[in-house]
Amino acid sequence: MIGTAQGVRVDVRCEGCGGTAARSVGQFLMYGRELWWDAECTCPQCGATMCEYWGPEATPEDVREALLAAHGPARLRLTAPLTDPVAVLRVLRERPGTSLRQVRELLARLRDFWLSGTAVEMAYLRVRLAERGVVAEVADGFGRAYRYVGPPELRAAGVGAGAGAGTGDGREAPSAGPAGQPVRTAGEFAAWADARTDARTDLRTAAESAEPFTFVVDLGGMLRLAPRRSEHVACAGGEPVLSAGEIGFRRSGGGWEVATVSNLSTGYCPDTASWPAVAAALTRLGLPHPGAFTYEAVFRRCPRCAECNLVREEHYACVFCDADLPEHWNVDPVAAAA
Ligand SMILES: [Zn+2]
Ligand SMILES: [Zn+2]
Repeated sequence: MIGTAQGVRVDVRCEGCGGTAARSVGQFLMYGRELWWDAECTCPQCGATMCEYWGPEATPEDVREALLAAHGPARLRLTAPLTDPVAVLRVLRERPGTSLRQVRELLARLRDFWLSGTAVEMAYLRVRLAERGVVAEVADGFGRAYRYVGPPELRAAGVGAGAGAGTGDGREAPSAGPAGQPVRTAGEFAAWADARTDARTDLRTAAESAEPFTFVVDLGGMLRLAPRRSEHVACAGGEPVLSAGEIGFRRSGGGWEVATVSNLSTGYCPDTASWPAVAAALTRLGLPHPGAFTYEAVFRRCPRCAECNLVREEHYACVFCDADLPEHWNVDPVAAAA
């Protein structure tokens, strides 16, 4: 189930002949306990083969995101309450390119939720934690992850909102809206909702909750909420997601329930097949939900002009060039390899 090697193949331009070459990138456990990545290029036209890299440096973000998109994330959690945080801190600090702030965030996340990342990263952490006597387990995520496919300038603003490692701290992004509020438990959701519904502001907030909020489900399966019309990439702290869309809540008895939920995010263009990740996040919070997206956004990339379309009323034609659009989701195709 959880491999110790993963790869992805992407088409690139051959520097030798200008044709289409295949770039294979991957991560693997070296010597059973070191996290390595590699990249090599082979061109079927001119026969050129080039090894770009092979070694233990920090995996570049584009390689990680391609692996997450092709294979989906894995998750890791401790199988017993954390009694030796120093041992865990030592393990987390071993990863190249990890700042002290990120290490603290990772520890907090491991303490009360799941860590998430590529399957090889989680296998690596499990091995290293075990070496220090800390027992953890690795589980699959919920299928593929969705990379951000919107305008790059919004992504830059979103990454500025911080929280790349998973714990939003609520700081404002310069233009794309605040990072999403992580909602891990029913108590955290109640606090988030109550903060919007005290007696003095009830009228305003009643209108607000009828208009949907921006949400993402992050790689660990956690719901993150942001004010309506916030950019999804900011809500996600720039990371890939399991799903993204808009969500509206209404009062139900003494609590809340989900009134509307969609996969409408032009930043991530997630497939309607991302629903199980949303359902799992809502179920964990004890929030009754409709059992499916109440609005299904159908995103397709045009095979002729490469623009991303939101298909309306089952009219499968590109609004930019009128080419036929495919039946199945194709916005960010990646091929698994190795
Ligand atoms: Zn070539
Ligand atoms: Zn087109």
